[in-house]
Amino acid sequence: MKVGERRTQGGWDQIVESEPHLVAPGAEWRSELYRVAVSQFTSAADVLGLEDEVRARLLEPRRSLVVNFPVRRDDGSVVSYTGYRVQHTLTMGPLKGGIRYGPGVSLGECAALAMWMTLKCALLGLPFGGAKGGVRVDPTRLSVGEMERLTRRYASELFPIIGPDRDIPAPDMATGEREMAWFMDTYSQQVGHSVPEIVTGKPIVLGGTEGRDIATGLGVVFVLEDVLRGRRESLEGKRVVVQGFGNVGSVVARECSERGAKIVGVSDVSTGIADPDGLDLGKVFAWVGEHRYLRDMPGVEHVGRTNILEVSCDVLVPAALERQITADNADRIDAGLVIEAANGPTTPEADHILRERGIEVVADVLANAGGVTVSYFEWVQDQQKYSWDGEAIIARLRLQLQEALARVYQARQRYDVDWRVAAQAVAIERVAQASRARTIYP
Ligand code: NAD
Repeated sequence: MKVGERRTQGGWDQIVESEPHLVAPGAEWRSELYRVAVSQFTSAADVLGLEDEVRARLLEPRRSLVVNFPVRRDDGSVVSYTGYRVQHTLTMGPLKGGIRYGPGVSLGECAALAMWMTLKCALLGLPFGGAKGGVRVDPTRLSVGEMERLTRRYASELFPIIGPDRDIPAPDMATGEREMAWFMDTYSQQVGHSVPEIVTGKPIVLGGTEGRDIATGLGVVFVLEDVLRGRRESLEGKRVVVQGFGNVGSVVARECSERGAKIVGVSDVSTGIADPDGLDLGKVFAWVGEHRYLRDMPGVEHVGRTNILEVSCDVLVPAALERQITADNADRIDAGLVIEAANGPTTPEADHILRERGIEVVADVLANAGGVTVSYFEWVQDQQKYSWDGEAIIARLRLQLQEALARVYQARQRYDVDWRVAAQAVAIERVAQASRARTIYP
């Protein structure tokens, strides 16, 4: 029998023909969010005329780890959870990306978010490839003790692929300083000495940095100020709506308000609240401090957590989660400008509708890059064993974002494209150059 003949036996040809999605490269991480990421990537790669070989290498994530692990609940029962870590490219240096807890976390979601992390780091000129991870869990149902056991077990499950020069996690949705402290302690226990540089977003006393807690939100506001300056406008008197009142959204609302903007709507997972004359943010923070959620806050109009996006404003800031502005509601967005604090809040279909309506969208990979930039500063300080001054960190953040914005402006003019395509084109070109220079091993 000839080799060629053997290859056609065994029924594989039939499967390849009848169910091509099963054998397509990367079928494992197909998801709605990954579709969004691929669509955005392809638009920018087309503008660059990117060659097929590099395109294929950058589209699919390089490594993915899926783990199932048990956690003991407070009542003594045991629950099994699924966790992920996706490493998008190893070309640019160690991996960097957040860890999120949520009921919708999946391999496909992490793959999309990891790709955006690669692009964000490249746009900002940081020496990292992108990664993302998380656990599929509803964190609001866990006690503090259960959260700690889940975080520690997940951290130890990731042990084979993370490290201060390999992959450095950070906070994302439903994780923060507390979880990073547990994560750092778990890793340190395993290696037998303290390793602060294994995560960023830690408490300052453990090697965290000044400014990391507000870096993402503050970065959004820095970019927004510069974009408005380019239109000969400022935040003074602008009506701002923020969807999401967590790590990022609450800082955006506060910083915009401190710069003279009127916050006419904010929301969290429980509800949205609006007031056309401007919310009293002091009261909103006090209510959330006491009750955790915006639900039932008196003296304000309550709208849905998604309807908040349709409240009339000058600047709309989605700062909650992905796929919020879609073909279903893009027609009803009543904003002069959208700036994406969340990752992937706008679908390609909504992008198209907003573009037709003349509403500019300042893309996530630029707008929310302040977080990973200060994470990079934290990692450098940990490596140097030397802390920088807080003011210097904020000044350096501002400069780094301004330089990235200038690169995106140039690309917008050169290619005559929108913010998203321009930002991704700048980033993809940088990673492509590195891929070409390293060629293929062996
Ligand atoms: P967080 O968990 O602190 O806050 C999320 C907010 O969104 C909360 O107010 C929550 O109640 C709300 N929310 C959750 N589900 C919702 C739903 N279905 N509808 C409406 N609101 C909902 O998270 P975060 O760290 O502020 O992250 C927010 C976004 O910013 C995410 O897209 C994240 O990937 C992105 N981001 C975060 C960082 C960071 O440093 N934390 C950096 C870059 C990008």
